Amino acid sequence: MKYSDLISITEQFGAPVYVYDSEKITSQYKRLTNAFKGVGNLRLNYAAKALSNISILRLMNSLGSGLDTVSIQEVKLGLMAGFAPESIIYTPNGVSLEEIEEAAALGVQINIDNLSVLEQFGSKHPDVPVCIRINPHVMAGGNSNISVGHIDSKFGISIHQIPHLLRIVELTKMNINGIHMHTGSDILDIDVFLYASEILFETAKNFKNLQFIDFGSGFKVPYKTGDIETNIEELGKKLTKRFNDFCADYGKELTLAFEPGKFLVSEAGYFLAKVNVVKQTTSTVFASVDSGFNHLIRPMLYGAQHQIVNISNPSGRERYYSVVGYICETDTFGNNRRINEIQEGDILAFKNAGAYCFTMASNYNSRYRPAEVLWHEGSAHLIRERETFDDIIKNQVDLKDLFIQKHSQVVVK
Ligand SMILES: *Cc1c(COP(=O)(O)O)cnc(C)c1O
Repeated sequence: MKYSDLISITEQFGAPVYVYDSEKITSQYKRLTNAFKGVGNLRLNYAAKALSNISILRLMNSLGSGLDTVSIQEVKLGLMAGFAPESIIYTPNGVSLEEIEEAAALGVQINIDNLSVLEQFGSKHPDVPVCIRINPHVMAGGNSNISVGHIDSKFGISIHQIPHLLRIVELTKMNINGIHMHTGSDILDIDVFLYASEILFETAKNFKNLQFIDFGSGFKVPYKTGDIETNIEELGKKLTKRFNDFCADYGKELTLAFEPGKFLVSEAGYFLAKVNVVKQTTSTVFASVDSGFNHLIRPMLYGAQHQIVNISNPSGRERYYSVVGYICETDTFGNNRRINEIQEGDILAFKNAGAYCFTMASNYNSRYRPAEVLWHEGSAHLIRERETFDDIIKNQVDLKDLFIQKHSQVVVK
């Protein structure tokens, strides 16, 4: 997308606003499928929690993607966006048996990540096929050292509990049709990913009716210069070979599944905010934008570094700025960044704003959540209206009859 397109979107829809470029989402999707073209049955299940706007889900569906969901609400969104139930996988953590049963009744693929619910679900619904989420206890220990750490992660069924798991499956006679892992951000490089995959293959041998093996996600995209990016093409080559060999041994052509979130949508997104105030202090020049961590929490929550560009003055002289928000506590988007000279009223673009940005937005400080716009084939489509004051008070119950003003207000003389 051109910066001039982004500027015209703020003129049309106001700021702050999230903008997503459908072309970038599409090219990332194709890049990933292309890297695994040697796999007979490949399935990408887009992780809805990264960016769950219904129009984005429709775009994913049109590309041929499935959907990875973590809540019953995401399942319902996916169904509403036109996904067939069987192309949705439901991978919750720590939810009630009732919620899992509700998802199963909707016909989506269930993925269970603890022994307690597995036993309860298997006893009640032995005929519903279930995928199990394994925790391979693998993490990158810097410089491609692999450690079998993370024993305390709350996700997945530990590989050390496989004997117990097999007993449950045998007793309940439930049907395990998939094996899954998602180690999230622990997997930085391909060797670690492949190492964890071996553990998954080893586990898979215990089950005779598998239809798929799901390798989760955790693919990296660059946020700032020098960042590691997962070499998808190399991973594709190596894992494809290993997977096809495994299927030959297993005696059946299984589906290889992934659930990318960030990889598909992060770089497609821009968050655009207007500069309210440029404030020079003795040590720093602050640029305060008409937004805060209520709209983009990743810098404060994870220390994420989103590149910031002054798209109103992209060729201006560079100076150092700390870009901050309007929230009434420390609310820094970027410290001491070199940015083209900023004037009040300029529009700053925060890059990599597609994944885990709008979906983590809140109404803190009673602010409205921003609008969302999809840029598709050269035109801008509003896909979420900016909130209004009605949205702020919509679900609030005003006990105005209980708290009638009994005392006249104290007037300070
Ligand atoms: C969040 C999540 C993903 C997506 O992770 P990314 O790092 O965004 O690719 C995939 N699978 C599961 C189970 C998740 O919870």
